[in-house]
Amino acid sequence: MLSEIEKERNQKVWGTFTIILSLVLSAATFIFNKYFLNDQPLFFSVLLGGFWIIVLSSWIAFGNLGSLIFLSLSIFSYTLLLLQPVHVFIQVYLFGIITFWFILAWYMNDFHSKISEKNFSIETRSEDLNKLINENNQETSKNRALKNKIESFSKLSNVIRELSFTITMDAVLDKVTTYIFQMLDKGDVCSLYLLNENMRTMDFKRYLLRNMSKSIMLNPKTRDDFNQWVFQHRQPLIVNDIEQDFRFDQSSMKEKNPPWLKSLIIAPLITGNKILGLARIDSTEKEAFTIDDLRLLMILSNMSALIIQNAILYKKTEDLAVHDDLTGLYVARIFHEKVKSIVKQFAISEKDEKFSILMIDLDHFKDLNDEYGHVIGDLVLKKAAAIISDCINREDTASRYGGEEFGVILMNKNHKEAFVIAEKIRKTLEARHMTVRRKMITLTLSIGISTYPDDALEGDKLLKIADERLYKAKELGRNKVI
Ligand code: GH3
Ligand code: MG
Ligand code: MG
Repeated sequence: MLSEIEKERNQKVWGTFTIILSLVLSAATFIFNKYFLNDQPLFFSVLLGGFWIIVLSSWIAFGNLGSLIFLSLSIFSYTLLLLQPVHVFIQVYLFGIITFWFILAWYMNDFHSKISEKNFSIETRSEDLNKLINENNQETSKNRALKNKIESFSKLSNVIRELSFTITMDAVLDKVTTYIFQMLDKGDVCSLYLLNENMRTMDFKRYLLRNMSKSIMLNPKTRDDFNQWVFQHRQPLIVNDIEQDFRFDQSSMKEKNPPWLKSLIIAPLITGNKILGLARIDSTEKEAFTIDDLRLLMILSNMSALIIQNAILYKKTEDLAVHDDLTGLYVARIFHEKVKSIVKQFAISEKDEKFSILMIDLDHFKDLNDEYGHVIGDLVLKKAAAIISDCINREDTASRYGGEEFGVILMNKNHKEAFVIAEKIRKTLEARHMTVRRKMITLTLSIGISTYPDDALEGDKLLKIADERLYKAKELGRNKVI
């Protein structure tokens, strides 16, 4: 396609050429006819053809107006020539031809302008059409993006709704891992790490594999370079090719990571300014993830962090309702419930089941409190609780029954066996001296024992008997087991 400037230049060249040609031809014909040819009719016809070329060229060069000017010029020149004495018939014939050429030229002009008009309107229409097609394509892709967004949001809101009903840590971790993997729909392994506050390491909690048939060997480490980076920077991480990422030590990359690992994304689980853990997706392919994937993972991680934080708080509240704040032992309610449920269970059991209860009370604890204050009193209570816990087995239960009283369930122990353990507790506390304000304190305790089924078959009765024996121990001078 010629540019507008080029078109204009062509027109000027053509136009100038036509003007010169028409002038030269007119003058030459005039002179030639007058002095050499004596008005030859054939010559006039050829000449007329020449004029016609001029008119046509001027039309091409200048359009309608140009062709009109040159047509008039041609007629004028031709008439000048015709004024020479020529046969009338030839004169009429030539005029006819001139008129014909004139009409033809006129018609051609019109035709030309119509064609250019049409071409122009076809061009503008096809431009409009292209524009419309473009707009339509844009709208379609916008629509598609919007549809995808709506789908993602509705999926996200479903996930949030589902997760908001989940409060226990195990269920939360299971669901969070599943949803993150589902929502991202990329990569081969999705794993979840939680911060171990004591060790300052990321403990591997959950993982999911997309395709079980792929031979992916998991070797989760608490100190992985990529996890460590996210933990330190508190920022998400995308690694497109682990062997090309120079943020990480490339010399040990192959030894440290499994051979299948090629790319990954990690987002920290952060609530407030506290990092709780990491959500990570690994892939067996290079460049498996985009920045958009990382963004989505961040949104999901932020949401997951809140839900995990909730589960942590829930566990804490539950612990508080179950465990005594000061000693960490079970509260009296749990102790009662356990006694009741064991009695119920043993009642229907066909085996000869047995268990014993210890009721423990610190001796003269009020005096210790009065003399050294509550802080020291609390410390002694903690020590006593720790000694009790150390002396019993995993299946046994220790509880803080009251202020300075403890209740213990010893599973599968008759009175004699329970007595041995009770004595161990008593002796250990007695032997553990404390020095407060340069004074050595020795604390003792008294214990009452009751045994199922020897003493009673009901929980309440067993507790009552153990209590009575405890008071007997007190009466007999304390620091005793009865
Ligand atoms: P006894 O040998 O007859 O058992 O005498 P005692 O002084 O140990 O018994 P008493 O029941 O008279 O006193 C219990 C004291 O335990 C009263 C209270 O000040 C103290 N106490 C209860 N709960 C706590 C606690 O959580 N912290 C501290 N420091 N003291 C507590
Ligand atoms: Mg008491
Ligand atoms: Mg006491």
